[in-house]
Amino acid sequence: MYCLLPFRFHRLPDCELIVNEVGDFLTLQQGSIEAIINRKIDPESDLYKDLKSGYFISEKPVPELIDNYAVRLRTKKAFLNYYTALHIFVLTLRCNQNCVYCQASSRKEHCGNSDMSRKTIDKSVELMFRSPSPHLTMEFQGGESSLVPHLVEYAILKAEEKNETAQRQITYVLCTNCVELTDRILNICEKYRIVISTSLDGFEELHNLNRGKSDSYSKTVNGIAKARNRLGEQFVSALMTTSELSLDYPKEIVDAYRENGFHSIFIRALNPYGLASSNQDWQQYCDRFVEFYKIVLDYILELNRNGIFFVEEFTAIILRKILTPFNTGFVDLQSPAGLVNGVVVYNYDGYVYASDESRMLAENGDYSFRLGSVDDPYEKLFYGDKVKEIAECWTTESIAGCSDCAFQSFCGADPVRNYTTQNDMYGNQPTSLFCRKHRKIIEHIFSLLIHRKEEVMPVFRSEVLRYMIDHN
Ligand code: SF4
Repeated sequence: MYCLLPFRFHRLPDCELIVNEVGDFLTLQQGSIEAIINRKIDPESDLYKDLKSGYFISEKPVPELIDNYAVRLRTKKAFLNYYTALHIFVLTLRCNQNCVYCQASSRKEHCGNSDMSRKTIDKSVELMFRSPSPHLTMEFQGGESSLVPHLVEYAILKAEEKNETAQRQITYVLCTNCVELTDRILNICEKYRIVISTSLDGFEELHNLNRGKSDSYSKTVNGIAKARNRLGEQFVSALMTTSELSLDYPKEIVDAYRENGFHSIFIRALNPYGLASSNQDWQQYCDRFVEFYKIVLDYILELNRNGIFFVEEFTAIILRKILTPFNTGFVDLQSPAGLVNGVVVYNYDGYVYASDESRMLAENGDYSFRLGSVDDPYEKLFYGDKVKEIAECWTTESIAGCSDCAFQSFCGADPVRNYTTQNDMYGNQPTSLFCRKHRKIIEHIFSLLIHRKEEVMPVFRSEVLRYMIDHN
């Protein structure tokens, strides 16, 4: 008689899936899970051997190679080793665009009292260096961060000064719409090897409609070209946001990315923050988004089959979780959640938030995820009562619904999203649209891995490989 080790299961339309604690999975014939649980598996069968070697069952209460299994689990959670690595500086709330889905509640370009003070920058940099992480990412956000080149430069100079003794590896990222990349900001980017993260929503008409400006597309693609010329192609990446309008143009959006020289796209759903929260029917949006995602992925698979290398980044993240022993460091899909563990935000007004979404909530008058101010001690901000409160519900391993979900290892917890959409940090997964979206996407990726394995695996392997090269 064998012992059952912890695993979770999921029924797909024509097979069953079991997943162990470290995310290893087996696909089984219908009825197998019941047989496993009722100890009906023949010890001579191949299935028995697979279950035993995969840590789904054991002949002893504690498997002999439990230490190996523990190492695997530690590897999966290695992103926790160094605590907060991503430090977001919201240097200004001012912006020169008028995006229909703006999640940052940005203000008009010439609005006063919307920039971070030098004193706040000094204190934020001090706090950033209290993080034990040997690698720090200092990301400048807005509003539109290129409107305040003097503050970008000042913040970098402060960090460089501090780093003469701290000796961390620092990556600088400028999040910009690329609409007005001046020589001054590009000089700073070149000097400090800043990575530009921009956003492009697709073809001209769509991009302009999303941005609420008739000339946004031409300015953005010119800005991207200018940045590539000065900094090199590898220093410029783009994100797209899927507005309701975008949902009708899956292939056209991919084509627009290709036409603009990109070899990948990150299909990103709208989040219910800021202006984007006025979207009326989130459930309908969620379902349409998943269908949109599937069409995009199918189209990208077709491109790759035809010899055109192109990657969908979100899929690459999930695949890395499914197909390798490693995690990704992608703060939006982690357990424990990325809040504080992976990211913290210093807002323009001197307050510190648990994540980018938390400060967006604050712009709407809700300070539930405010950790304190830059004047507070590091310990109070990063280990204080607010963080402890959030920590009660930031692991998929402990939340009702997620704790017995087969996709737990590939998904993540999001107390801010739960709070925003369900008025409860803990969340209720059966009615959660975050859960619905991720469940359907992960289910789709598994169904491709199972039913179209020969066709998709070469593409998926190269996507994962490229992801690992880019992010390690
Ligand atoms: S959010 Fe949903 S899909 Fe993700 S782990 Fe929790 S229950 Fe599973």
